Amino acid sequence: MKIKLCHLYPDLLDLYGDRGNILTLEARARWRGLDFEVQNVSLGERIDFHSLDILFLGGGSDREQSILVADLMGRVEELKAAIEDGLVVLSICGGYQLLGQYYQTTEGRRIPGLGILDLWTVAGANRLTGNVVVNLEIEELTEASSNTLSTLVGFENHSGRTYLGSELKSLGKVIHGHGNNGEDQGEGMRYKNVFGTYLHGPLLPKNPHFADMLLRLAMERGGGAKNLVPLDDRLEILAHETVVDRILSKQKKV
Ligand code: GLN
Repeated sequence: MKIKLCHLYPDLLDLYGDRGNILTLEARARWRGLDFEVQNVSLGERIDFHSLDILFLGGGSDREQSILVADLMGRVEELKAAIEDGLVVLSICGGYQLLGQYYQTTEGRRIPGLGILDLWTVAGANRLTGNVVVNLEIEELTEASSNTLSTLVGFENHSGRTYLGSELKSLGKVIHGHGNNGEDQGEGMRYKNVFGTYLHGPLLPKNPHFADMLLRLAMERGGGAKNLVPLDDRLEILAHETVVDRILSKQKKV
């Protein structure tokens, strides 16, 4: 089976190593003998959402978000239909914010979002930065993975505070860091096969269980095998657990 991923606006939405997420998905697919194709699509370029398995939207600054929003709006109906049809989407920070109703800047200007998801973002006076550990609350995660990790680790740097409508679920609860808004302990969101998160770093190399869940959802939707061949994740697990241990032991000392 071939997995087709589109990196939308790679020239505008790619902060703090976000592209590493694509490299991780590609490597984990190829190690299992699966074909993997990456399409880079930017402003004005054509894209067929229905032919895709995974869409990747990275992070971007307020400036970059306002440059691309008009172009993205032109694609909203097609993207919405693909999402309803189960397209797997990984959206990080600025990309995650863009899927919602609006992003209100510190000056009070509202950049309209795609309005696909019931969430909205309001920029605060200070930035929420630092390492994050999240206790994941996603059922498919344990089924998908060949390891037993149940946390998500990464690094956040955003001024936007994101709030979820009552129908949307977060990815889990923040054990350390700020997450969506620094108030309700929620981090990220999930709707169907769409995942949003504030975690950069990039996210997937240190969270192989999350990467495999995305691959598995994409394969399942494409009619491919449900189970992924287990990989030797000792290095990835060590990286993940080292971050968790360091952060949580520091937290205890404070
Ligand atoms: N505009 C966003 C914010 O600062 C995006 C930041 C990001 O993608 N890292 O909240």
